[in-house]
Amino acid sequence: MKKQFAVIGLGNFGFYLAAALFQKGHEVLGIDINARQVQEIRDQVSRAVIADATDPQALKELELEKLDAVVVAIGSVLNNSILATLNVKDMGVKRVVAKAVSEAHGRILRKIGADDIYFPEKDLALAAAQRLDNPNVLDYLPFMEGYSIVELAPPTGFIGKTLIELDLINRHGIQVVAVKEMGPENVVMIPTGRFVVKDSDVLVMLGPDHALAGLKA
Ligand code: ADP
Repeated sequence: MKKQFAVIGLGNFGFYLAAALFQKGHEVLGIDINARQVQEIRDQVSRAVIADATDPQALKELELEKLDAVVVAIGSVLNNSILATLNVKDMGVKRVVAKAVSEAHGRILRKIGADDIYFPEKDLALAAAQRLDNPNVLDYLPFMEGYSIVELAPPTGFIGKTLIELDLINRHGIQVVAVKEMGPENVVMIPTGRFVVKDSDVLVMLGPDHALAGLKA
């Protein structure tokens, strides 16, 4: 499904992120204070504008609150990252994702209300270590044309039922591979048929794209 994103700060991280989201078919607005960065990304996003994200007035015109998510990818100038994150939060943006360059930076962004925080260097290092230690089959799954793993809040008809009762595997060819209970910290891997689905759960499911899309509808 096509989503609308904005990426503020088109340095290395922001540039690749914005271009990749656009390539995946989403609508992407790129924002940077530096005209050169904006010029450079112009053909690889839906729209690119010069704006200072520390200035609430400049952001207001961009109507970021209408988008699905805004990523603050300013890293090196802490002050700007913090102010930009605060500004987009104050505008009532639905989902604010911010890039942090250190643990302390991350803590500040979390306090301001960033919904999600990336630590690019740390996250990549951990992912690289994991892959070197134990190559994960999940890395190869995207090559299985027509299949995906998705996270989904359970449709109302699922709530209070066991996985046996739902019988997704026989009815739709869908396997529930994990359930996130009350946030990402508590994950039930490969739940058994006796697992009872709760309203607060997030189901991680593997299956054919068309069947998964049917559940979302
Ligand atoms: P990276 O390490 O991913 O290259 P940087 O922090 O070096 O990240 O780059 C951040 C980008 O954010 C730069 O292109 C810079 O021009 C931009 N930027 C910095 N301050 C602001 C601001 N106040 N408003 C918009 N963009 C900004």
